Amino acid sequence: MIRFDVLTLFPVMFEAVLGDSIIGRARENGLIQMNFIDIRDYTQNKHRKVDDYPYSGGGGMLMSPQPIYDAYMSVAKGLEYKPMTIYMSPQGKVFNQKMAVDLSKERHIVILCGHYEGVDQRVLDEIVDMEISIGDFVMTGGEIPAMSVIDTVARLIPGVLSSEGAYENESHFNGLLEYPQYTRPAVWHNKEIPEILISGHHANIEKWKHEQSLINTYNKRPDMLKKAELSKKDIEFLGLYEKKISDNGQ
Ligand code: SAM
Repeated sequence: MIRFDVLTLFPVMFEAVLGDSIIGRARENGLIQMNFIDIRDYTQNKHRKVDDYPYSGGGGMLMSPQPIYDAYMSVAKGLEYKPMTIYMSPQGKVFNQKMAVDLSKERHIVILCGHYEGVDQRVLDEIVDMEISIGDFVMTGGEIPAMSVIDTVARLIPGVLSSEGAYENESHFNGLLEYPQYTRPAVWHNKEIPEILISGHHANIEKWKHEQSLINTYNKRPDMLKKAELSKKDIEFLGLYEKKISDNGQ
């Protein structure tokens, strides 16, 4: 069981996206707990204002520290531990599968979603353990980034996916992209599925899948191959593949 508490100005956005399908079911089955906390409920002014002008000038508004801190304390107060607290930010470490695996081992994660021009630095300094970005671009708010993190982490929790370890063959798990996949019918638009997949020869199928993974990664994300743990056999295989495509290109 993992618990997520999201501090946001737009809690309804989360139910719409995470309330259904695999993650929604996992929540119903008690495998994950998700609470979406409206920061606006913690304002101390009668207009429920959550932002103010930045001292540094420039356009836009900044989220004020007090409502965020009080929303955070509504979660953290009384706990015997500090929940892992993440601020979704374009300045953070860029999210990847390895970070998701590490986060899936946490028991309780609080995620703060910024909006407008961002958040007053002082509250970040007090509550945040880690900043996560979903890529080198700037979005209007941290809600979609937070949903991406929750979805990715939640599906790694045992029992969330129907077949145990289903994610272990997937792209990025072992530093490679997944092999191409096929379903029925066996012939579609005159295209047949690779014959090996109906050979019934388990070891050869596994070998084919691994080689296709190497080819896919080579073609789509060669940068990943530099970091992947490749065996001598893999390196030989890729050398032959490279030679084959360069011979074909001539
Ligand atoms: N002024 C901030 C800066 O330059 O770093 C950007 C603020 S952005 C317009 C508003 C909010 O969207 C941020 O506080 C953050 O929570 C979220 N956000 C935007 N881009 C993001 C990204 N790539 N990854 C994670 N969160 C992002």
